[in-house]
Amino acid sequence: MPDASWTARAPVVFDVPPPQLHVSQHPLVRHKLALLREVGTKPKKFRELVRELTWLLGYEALADVHLEPVTVTTPLEQVPGEALGDRIGLIPILRAGLGMVDAMVELLPMAEVWHLGLFRDERTLRPVEYYNKLPDSRTVDVCLILDPMLATGGSATAAIDVLKRWGAVRIKLLNLIAAPEGVQAVMDAHPDVPIHTAALDRQLNERGYILPGLGDAGDRQFGTGG
Ligand code: URA
Repeated sequence: MPDASWTARAPVVFDVPPPQLHVSQHPLVRHKLALLREVGTKPKKFRELVRELTWLLGYEALADVHLEPVTVTTPLEQVPGEALGDRIGLIPILRAGLGMVDAMVELLPMAEVWHLGLFRDERTLRPVEYYNKLPDSRTVDVCLILDPMLATGGSATAAIDVLKRWGAVRIKLLNLIAAPEGVQAVMDAHPDVPIHTAALDRQLNERGYILPGLGDAGDRQFGTGG
């Protein structure tokens, strides 16, 4: 959902790509992104594309997780192998992030999933948590925040604040489309957090929607756009 408190301002333009921003150049990602943006793509197809794109972007985003050595017994002999050494937590931001969970759980069946709900208080303009399923103490090594649209960056920075207060050290943001304004906001508040996305779009409009974007990612997944 776009950020209702957003007021349009001069677009952010990056002269050089920010080092913490990773825009996938994979041909499958570029192909599926174009289908996702298309206004005629219906919710069922849209959800499939969200899932497939998340799978591909998640695969790229986790390229630096740690491995530990294991011994594998094949039917013929033993061989050195590797197993994931990092425990990974998935944090979908309600509600649009829900569509990204299945893909990541397929890739990481052992991952813990903690839902986080945030909205912006219209009076204070600060993000307020209305749902938080984080356990009391840190149980994972890497936190992957799932949110299809990085628009103003308000929810993303608030989610990272919550995770850091909770003790998370390695946090990554997984988006399908990012606006320069949101990237700048996350970089200013949390320069240590890499952002993985399929696209860096042009700007936000006066209502906080990403241009060219894809509209409301929640409505398009769940058919609630009217
Ligand atoms: N959230 C969306 O779903 N779409 C946008 O364009 C911005 C925020």
